[in-house]
Amino acid sequence: MTNSQTIQKTKCKRILLKMSGEALMGPNAFGIDPATCLSFAKEVKEVYDEGIEICLVIGGGNIFRGVSGSAQGMERASADYMGMLATIMNALAMQSALEGIGVPTRVQSAIPMATVCEPYIRRRAQRHMEKGRVVIFAAGVGSPFFTTDTGAALRAAEMGCDCLLKGTGVDGVYEADPKKEPDAKRYEELSYTDVLSKNLKIMDATAISLMRENNIPIIVFNIRHKGRLKEVIDGKGICTTIHGK
Ligand code: UDP
Repeated sequence: MTNSQTIQKTKCKRILLKMSGEALMGPNAFGIDPATCLSFAKEVKEVYDEGIEICLVIGGGNIFRGVSGSAQGMERASADYMGMLATIMNALAMQSALEGIGVPTRVQSAIPMATVCEPYIRRRAQRHMEKGRVVIFAAGVGSPFFTTDTGAALRAAEMGCDCLLKGTGVDGVYEADPKKEPDAKRYEELSYTDVLSKNLKIMDATAISLMRENNIPIIVFNIRHKGRLKEVIDGKGICTTIHGK
């Protein structure tokens, strides 16, 4: 077993899964595809059924990104708030998909929205997880100029997660974009410092630094590959592990 497989197999009792908003588009160019949400919900259920405590952070890029809004002349902070509202829509879509297959959930938003979901309360979120509910954290960190990757890193630290799983459309972190360069080599393991110094754009630097400070491993894997989430947690699946080394 490699060092990274040992990390996965022995330490993942409570995890945070980060998915980009774009993952929820499925085959479409925009928005939320309910069939895709259902397939991700089934992936989460497979792990949930093993007794692993799970929380989720979902991005908003399938609906709105602050930087694109500001590039079109909007005030950046307002555009970012719109992006955060998009993540709340995605959280509700995943909640509905998970509850549809019998997984109890709670959505907690960093921007309070009392009639729609709970506000973010750390101790309450921990209690939900202890009671076997999947907690979906929406609205990132609740402030403009941040990303949901940073929101995921922050919540992973606050919840005391053993690892942060970053679900992407490829099998891990590569030297070059594997969609453009099919021979590009996949890294098995990387240190946080490698990711920052090589400027590998897998998560933003704020998120990576926060994970480094808290020594929480990041596992990058292909969320679209059926069964891969469970394989990775069992220490078997193809992925890249980012840790202190
Ligand atoms: N956003 C923000 N603060 C946060 C999280 C998100 O301002 O703490 C905004 C930002 O505009 C971002 C958008 O929400 O572009 C959607 O989030 P993100 O780009 O992280 O989504 P993803 O790329 O994961 O789909």
